[in-house]
Amino acid sequence: MQTIDNSKPVMVTGATGYVAGRLVEKLLSEGLTVHAAVRSPDNKEKTKYLDALAEKLPGSIKYFKTDLMEPGSYNEAMAGCEVVYHTASPFAMQVKDAQKDMVDPALKGTRNVLESVNKTDSVKRVVVTSSCVAIYGDAKDTLAYPNQEMTEEIWNTTSTLDHQPYSLSKTLAEKEAWKMAGEQDRWRLVTINPSFVLGPGINPYASSESYNIMKQIGKGDFKMGAPAFNIGCVDVRDLAVAHFNAGTFPDAEGRHIASGTNSSFGELASIIKNKFPNYPIGTRKLPKFMIWLMAPSVGMTRKSISLNVGYPWKANNSKSIEKLKMNYRPLNETVEEFFGSLVDAGVIEKK
Ligand code: NDP
Repeated sequence: MQTIDNSKPVMVTGATGYVAGRLVEKLLSEGLTVHAAVRSPDNKEKTKYLDALAEKLPGSIKYFKTDLMEPGSYNEAMAGCEVVYHTASPFAMQVKDAQKDMVDPALKGTRNVLESVNKTDSVKRVVVTSSCVAIYGDAKDTLAYPNQEMTEEIWNTTSTLDHQPYSLSKTLAEKEAWKMAGEQDRWRLVTINPSFVLGPGINPYASSESYNIMKQIGKGDFKMGAPAFNIGCVDVRDLAVAHFNAGTFPDAEGRHIASGTNSSFGELASIIKNKFPNYPIGTRKLPKFMIWLMAPSVGMTRKSISLNVGYPWKANNSKSIEKLKMNYRPLNETVEEFFGSLVDAGVIEKK
């Protein structure tokens, strides 16, 4: 048991990100003081969505300029906080230099944040946003898991700098967090391992990879049909609750798969087709060889197609339901509201 005092401020790294936006909203709605650790506190285009929330919700927000690659840059933002939410990490499927642009900020960034935690006596709890990709590398890997499903006991052992570097970055960062947590006994680490995050963000113009699938479907990339990509999905607003409960529940501990539904690209496309029938969306499954051929033109490797398309994707979310009291909303609500929010904002052309 570990009691958390909600009158103390909390720090959120990467507060201007997609996932963090809804987390900050949840924290502000609970009346907390949020220390928003961001790269560009003076960029009003990025902070205005958080400012608008702080104006209408009971909590308050204070910005701090930080960077994952700068040792000590989180010290000031963390002072006086009991809970640290570490969400910042590069999330992109294509980068020039996987080591420099993805692995270094994820791994060294986590190390920097946790070194500051080690120096800040007030911190009792650290919630790290990891990922299901720290559990599995490719869908084919899951065939070897008990019941062919992901659980909190499993770790990704197959991603490399050349193959699924984002997954490698998340795996190395989470492992480092557990290593550093194990070297002390003042603060407790809790991780949230989300599947693919969907649902309306506070900023419809955000750049997270989560937006791309909606934009692709909106501009007709699936008009011939959808690849047989199975994925798990979690609503960004449910994910905020998972983080908040991981940060405040006295007995929260360990890893937590945060995933509402085991789904597929085809199901996402069908949900959108039913609700928004004017968009050109095909419902047949595209043959794997066709996707394999097209892969490089859409920024994917043929190896990732070979190891993922047509394989099952199953995650066991029972720990998050039991321990974090998660009540995941239905996928169609998430997808319809997400797509609709992007149409309303003009990010996806109205039809
Ligand atoms: P975003 O790109 O919206 O957010 C990433 C955040 O990380 C941004 O706030 C960004 O800052 C910050 N960041 C990146 N590099 C640096 C750096 N060098 N120094 C400081 N901050 C940095 O993506 P998401 O919100 O989707 O991702 C948030 C977290 O959730 C990540 O850890 C991601 O791995 C994880 N996740 C996301 C999933 C998804 O489907 N979206 C699924 C599973 C896990 P800035 O705003 O300045 O660009």
